[in-house]
Amino acid sequence: MKISSFTEYQHIYQQSVEQPEQFWADVADQYYWRKKWDKTLEWNFKEPNIKWFQGGKLNITESCLDRHLETNADTPAIIWEPNDPTEAHRVLTYKQLHDKVCQFANVLKNNGAKKGDRICIYMPMVPELAIAVLASARIGAVHSVVFGGFSAQSIADRIKDAECNIVITADGGFRGAKDLPLKSVIDDALVQCPSVKRVIVLTRSHTPVSMIKGRDVWWEDEVKKVETQGNPACPAEEMDAEDMLFILYTSGSTGKPKGVVHTCGGYMVYTGYTFATAFQYEPGEVYFCTADIGWITGHSYIVYGPLSQGATALMFEGVPTWPDAGRLWDIVQKFKVNILYTAPTAIRSLMGFGTDIVNKYDLSSLTKLGSVGEPLNEEAWHWFDENIGHGHCPIVDTWWQTETGGFMISPIANVTPLKPGYASLPLPGVQPILVDENGQEIQGNNVSGNLCIKFPWPGMLRTTYGDHERCRQTYFSTYPDLYFTGDGCLRDEDGYYRITGRVDDVLNVSGHRIGTAEVENAINMHSSVVESAVVGYPHEIKGQGVYAFVISPEKHESEELTRKDILMTVSRIIGPIAKPDKIQFVTGLPKTRSGKIMRRILRKIAEGDTSNLGDTSTLLDPSVVDEIKDGAL
Ligand code: ATP
Ligand code: MG
Repeated sequence: MKISSFTEYQHIYQQSVEQPEQFWADVADQYYWRKKWDKTLEWNFKEPNIKWFQGGKLNITESCLDRHLETNADTPAIIWEPNDPTEAHRVLTYKQLHDKVCQFANVLKNNGAKKGDRICIYMPMVPELAIAVLASARIGAVHSVVFGGFSAQSIADRIKDAECNIVITADGGFRGAKDLPLKSVIDDALVQCPSVKRVIVLTRSHTPVSMIKGRDVWWEDEVKKVETQGNPACPAEEMDAEDMLFILYTSGSTGKPKGVVHTCGGYMVYTGYTFATAFQYEPGEVYFCTADIGWITGHSYIVYGPLSQGATALMFEGVPTWPDAGRLWDIVQKFKVNILYTAPTAIRSLMGFGTDIVNKYDLSSLTKLGSVGEPLNEEAWHWFDENIGHGHCPIVDTWWQTETGGFMISPIANVTPLKPGYASLPLPGVQPILVDENGQEIQGNNVSGNLCIKFPWPGMLRTTYGDHERCRQTYFSTYPDLYFTGDGCLRDEDGYYRITGRVDDVLNVSGHRIGTAEVENAINMHSSVVESAVVGYPHEIKGQGVYAFVISPEKHESEELTRKDILMTVSRIIGPIAKPDKIQFVTGLPKTRSGKIMRRILRKIAEGDTSNLGDTSTLLDPSVVDEIKDGAL
């Protein structure tokens, strides 16, 4: 949606709240539907039961591919930059992508896949990953993409939960200096998964793999078969708006992964709309999202959102720090990237390498920047703004979740006045509210509370796969008739929203509620502290005690002194009540790949219960857990 001024935003926002169904019907009209819907919305947040665009018939790939062929067949849809900068990059135009998706959709059909089947995709960040996703959608199957770094056990859990019958993988993949032995991990996982009848293996790394007769086939051989059949087009399967499009398991930073379910119609409408609106995408712009397609960000903002808008999306196989910390800037220069969408964790890590390496590259093509995953702290915001955006690129700090399908609270590029650290204002159509512990709405500005959404939006989750009650419990039962995000938030004097972190990250020390982030900020003020993570643990007297995990390179020289200093710092900044009862010095913290600290692991360690730490394979570096466990106090 093109919005040209802040006043216009306010006007459209107002309308979207007054007549939400009309608003979303107008947005939905901009997509290709085989048959228009009969009813825009039916909903209650009790069960919950949410249905958008009922009676509508579509296939999302027709909006993402077919409809661009007439006018934009030769526009690049996907630009792919490999892990190794000396390997050739690839460009797929809309026509080429369409053809490859149809071809692979036929491969899937030849291998017995049909509408409604669940297909697990475990692949490196190569264009064939996007092709597999779209081909699955084309035939009406449900994809469940599992991030290419997950362990055999996490894959097996996800395959079993979704009862997948087909797996698409590759012999191996590359990420930075690492080789990913994908096929061999799949072999280990499938020992536990009798539902899987077929494994399709793409050649990427040329690593020797074992192919199991009757189960495993090569991608390339199957494509050849389709070609010799005359390479017929693959008409898209007609789907109901509320048919399942995909399952995506959340990263698990808050417990057992949940299979978040998104449906065809609403998700299509929402991802395209939010992409076009927040970034104010203009035809011809090169848009680079550094996420992996294994996360919701890659689903919504590398594949579906940009493609439905006819955009050019750049996908990158590697990591920002390999072969060196200039890699992202090199890619920006090489492809004259206009929009760069990345994560605070990447920004902070690149900040650490200084600006000399940044200044070697020509970043003048950049016009808009974006961030997602966690709050973008002021320091990182300013560094990004000054050194990457050179002061003239709006930073679109997008707050959203796997469950929301797309951006919820976000500035609109060149429209919303920015405030560092703030996701700013809801996009038109999104109705956030803050509530207190009792679920009472907190009105007015300069307030903080728990962030909820009070009206449905088309991209919201419909259920958690195979367990609707879990969906109700997790998101709709804390506060009646509201979707609860799990995030704490403040709304400042201008009505701007600032996400403060998860509300379960609140300690109750002797009846005082203290945010873990607050304590961490105080600890981090100490000059020798690099980073810290704070959790609660059961304490006989206080109810909860404060346990701090602290990274401090100087601790070896004067551990006791540093500890005392930290206690003083916290006392001074928050008060003696927040003083950590225990401080454990560590060399690293358990972080998910999106940069979030997996507190449930630290909580368990702090509680002294290390027997079952749950799935740790989704961590960036699972080995830090052992070290922390060994040093537990
Ligand atoms: P799990 O739900 O399994 O714990 P997760 O919440 O880390 O995993 P995501 O859905 O990717 O998985 O992350 C959504 C969360 O990330 C939000 O609830 C919020 O806490 C945080 N977040 C995302 N974007 C922002 C942002 N721009 N500003 C602040 N926080 C953000
Ligand atoms: Mg979450």
